[in-house]
Amino acid sequence: MAVVYQKPRGLTDAPLSYCPGCTHGIIHKLVAEALTGLGVMDKTVGVAPVGCSVLAYSFFDCDMVQSPHGRAPAVATGLKRVMPDNVVFTYQGDGDLAAIGTAETVHAAARGENITIIFVNNAIYGMTGGQMAPTTLPGQITQTTPYGRDVSGAGYPIRICEMLATLDGVAYAERVSVHDVPSVRKAGRAVKKAFQAQLDKKGFSLVEILSTCPTNWGLDPLESLQWLKDKMIPYYPLGVMKDLTGQGGGQL
Ligand code: SF4
Ligand code: MG
Repeated sequence: MAVVYQKPRGLTDAPLSYCPGCTHGIIHKLVAEALTGLGVMDKTVGVAPVGCSVLAYSFFDCDMVQSPHGRAPAVATGLKRVMPDNVVFTYQGDGDLAAIGTAETVHAAARGENITIIFVNNAIYGMTGGQMAPTTLPGQITQTTPYGRDVSGAGYPIRICEMLATLDGVAYAERVSVHDVPSVRKAGRAVKKAFQAQLDKKGFSLVEILSTCPTNWGLDPLESLQWLKDKMIPYYPLGVMKDLTGQGGGQL
C-alpha cells in the first residue's frame, strides 16, 4: 500500500492531548519538520510552557525542559548560554507568553538572546477554560467577557510581533497562520527560517502563529478556521515584521 502520509520524525508516538480540531497539532508538526529538516533534532532543547501545550515535553522527540508559567524565555536563556551549540526553543501560548510571561519575553528579546520562540496565539486562555487573554479581540466573548471584550475597561489586545520587532535585539519576527494549506506551508517556512537564524547566531527570533481554539470559541473545527481568517487576521496582520537574518524576505 502506498504511504500517503507519515507523522514527521521529530514527534514521539505519544497521542496528542489537544482537543479535536485544535491547530496545536499542526504547529507541533511544523516545528518537528523544521528541526528534522535542518538535521538538528538531536541537539535541540525545547522549553514547554504552562497552558494547553504543557505536555509538549511528551510530544517533541528532543530534550525538553518544563518551565514555570510564563518563564520559558528565561529558562531558554539559561539553557542557551550554557549550551550555545544547542538549538533552544520555547513553545508558548498567548496567556503564557503575553500575560504572565510578558517581562521574560520582552527582556529576552531586548537582550537579543539567540533563542527561538514559537508563539501560538489563539486569542484566549485555553487550558483554564476560556478566559480573556491579552490577545482577545475587541468584542470577543469569553468566560470573563460574556458581553464581549470592552476595551474601555479591559484594554486593547497586544500585537506581540509588532511590539518585539521594535527591539534592537530581535533578528526575526514574523506572524503566520494555519487556517488553510497555503498558510500552513508558509508557516512551516517561517519556523524553519527562525531556527536557521539561531543556527547562524543572528539573535532572537520569534514566529507568532495564529491558531484555533474550537473548544473555547464555541465553534466547530471548520468554523474555527473561518473565524481565524475572518476575525483574527484583520486585527493581527500576517507578515514579516523584522528580518535581519540575511536569508531574504522583507520587513514591514
Ligand atoms: Fe486547543 Fe483550545 Fe482545546 Fe486548548 S482548549 S487544546 S487551545 S482547542
Ligand atoms: Mg491561548
